Amino acid sequence: MAQNKQILLDNRPQGEATVSNFKLVTVETPALQDGQVLVRHHYLSLDPYMRGRMNDSKSYAAPQALGTPMIGGTVGEVIESRNERFKPGDHVVGIGGWQQYAVVDATQIGYLRKVDTTHVPLSAYLGPVGMPGVTAWYGLMRICEPKAGETVVVSAASGAVGSVVGQLAKSRGCRAVGIAGGPDKCRYVVDELGFDACIDYKAHANARSLSLALKEAAPDGVDGYFENVGGMVLDAVLSRMNAFGRIALCGMIAGYDGQPMALANPSLLLTQRLKLQGFIVGEHMEVWPEALAELGKGVATGRIKYRETVAQGIEAAPEAFLGLLKGKNFGKQLVKLI
Ligand code: NDP
Repeated sequence: MAQNKQILLDNRPQGEATVSNFKLVTVETPALQDGQVLVRHHYLSLDPYMRGRMNDSKSYAAPQALGTPMIGGTVGEVIESRNERFKPGDHVVGIGGWQQYAVVDATQIGYLRKVDTTHVPLSAYLGPVGMPGVTAWYGLMRICEPKAGETVVVSAASGAVGSVVGQLAKSRGCRAVGIAGGPDKCRYVVDELGFDACIDYKAHANARSLSLALKEAAPDGVDGYFENVGGMVLDAVLSRMNAFGRIALCGMIAGYDGQPMALANPSLLLTQRLKLQGFIVGEHMEVWPEALAELGKGVATGRIKYRETVAQGIEAAPEAFLGLLKGKNFGKQLVKLI
């Protein structure tokens, strides 16, 4: 029996999440039943949505139960199988949680998916060729609906989702403008990812100053905005939206610790006749095959670039997760488990 280290949600945060909300335990993996497979995780994905699951509040998904391993996307290798669709050695992606091993009932459709690592590295199935990539694809293509010649802006631009949004917008003939925290991230967004411009929001004390910088970076105004952050950044971009602009409301990470975030000038939604739509990527499974086909090809051919920040060992997951909520990650935040 393999010894399995897990990180449980031990108690709920009061305000900001801390390492004391989590607990490390070691358990034995149980013997397999018919239909089950044992997966050894190579990488765990850390994602901002996990912060929401730590609360016991109204949301699109049920809260994480106390005393259970934190939810999380994982990639790994099948090491034992009692399911005819999977054999030892298969590379798989699933939602195995914050633990080194998972016993998965693989008879349930969608719980575990085999992936091909010939041209796409295993870890990329948690980033550009996984949930964050599809999130970018859905919000951009289905809500921002970019047309050649238009301007698309994305916040948290160097991150797992934002980096893909800008590269897809470029591939549709748009001007892509990123907003990110710090000069290093902005340089990467322009020099490596190929955005036309990137604004360091940390260099601006208020929305007005950020809006003026945006006027320079997006001289024709903003047609599509992919929002990951909220707060001052949203206020600034709203002030630059063109008439009939589209806003994909993907995330509002600036408020995930529960602090209220007012909108300074909501009347712009009316006067500019804007569309603003929130979405949850898991509710749009119909686009996943088309999106993953484009994203997989993009990564395999090197057209879609990405960057990862990798913490080592399951014990490092809580700190790495709290860092992600503060922008300490640079690109997709992963934990390497082997
Ligand atoms: P990232 O890799 O972009 O990491 C999060 C980044 O957010 C940080 O690196 C930081 O970048 C930025 N950030 C953190 N705090 C703040 C703050 N207070 N103000 C401004 N920026 C901040 O994460 P993902 O790409 O995985 O996720 C991006 C967004 O997409 C999140 O809001 C997430 O919740 C959302 N999301 C939504 C989904 C959906 O279905 N709707 C699915 C997946 C993700 P910087 O240093 O540049 O500030």
